[in-house]
Amino acid sequence: MITLSDIKKARETLRNTGIKQTPVLTSQLISERYQNRILFKGEHLQKTGAFKVRGAAVKVGQEVAKGADHVIAASSGNHGQAVAYHAQRLGVRSTIIAPVDAAACKKDAIETYKGNIELCGTTSEERITRAKQLAEESDGSFIPPYDDPAIMSGQGTVGLEICEQVDQLDAVYVPVGGGGLISGTATAIKEQFPHVRVIGVEPSLANDTYLSYHNGRRTSIQKAPTIADGLRASIPGELTFPVLQKYVDDIVLVSEEEIKEAFTQIFTYMKQVIEPSSAAAAAGAFKHRNQNENVVVVVSGGNVDPAVIPDLLVQ
Ligand SMILES: *Cc1c(COP(=O)(O)O)cnc(C)c1O
Repeated sequence: MITLSDIKKARETLRNTGIKQTPVLTSQLISERYQNRILFKGEHLQKTGAFKVRGAAVKVGQEVAKGADHVIAASSGNHGQAVAYHAQRLGVRSTIIAPVDAAACKKDAIETYKGNIELCGTTSEERITRAKQLAEESDGSFIPPYDDPAIMSGQGTVGLEICEQVDQLDAVYVPVGGGGLISGTATAIKEQFPHVRVIGVEPSLANDTYLSYHNGRRTSIQKAPTIADGLRASIPGELTFPVLQKYVDDIVLVSEEEIKEAFTQIFTYMKQVIEPSSAAAAAGAFKHRNQNENVVVVVSGGNVDPAVIPDLLVQ
């Protein structure tokens, strides 16, 4: 399992990579409405628009140091952008395996960083198989999206920053896909402040980690048709799940409607555009809460397809 010291080392490798310490935002109106001091860790304002650039910095950096001149990822989303960004920065090639129906704005973002896009199938299994095959054929390195100690440690730097930026912390709400973000973040927080509660949030329509956590073993789901596209993993990671079992206090669920309501409130009162995966974490904090606590919501990213925004705005 990763440790606090791995995360501190990861932070050293993030220096001079374009990655920033993102701000912690607040809204008096939202805090009053939910009877807690609610703070938002703003990874939507991160380079590339999401926290994935942290883990990718560590992993791509390690692979390039070992001599890799081609890195490959299976994701049209934030992980793909992050890998393409670091490849360009380090002067190596990247190939991002994207689904045939990938949104134009996502392909544009990958192309901004000179990533090659290869379209393949519609399921993540097809893309991962192709990415690993291409890595073999081209003597390249496959960069996994979450189930890897380097990735988990890099994502954990979000937790280190929260501990430094916020005092009197009571609870942290983290969105859960494959579990890279929450495994790193929980390790950083619990190994310093064991009394702080770390709560994972999943859409009810992508409840694989919720089921796994309550069953006490990794459990897969067939489909994850949620609007929160960063949270559509169908089974928790092999390496991430034991960390969740050790450090996460609870996994809670939110509905699609609650995700949209949280998006609308943050858009209206805070003037921040966040992606549905992050609105899910906010919805979890709004719904499953105590009173008069200092709560942090990890706003994991801001890359929302503009075409989807009208559907996210409710009332
Ligand atoms: C990937 C992602 C998540 C989920 O992170 P995991 O490490 O897969 O659990 C949450 N939000 C956004 C914006 C993401 O890109």
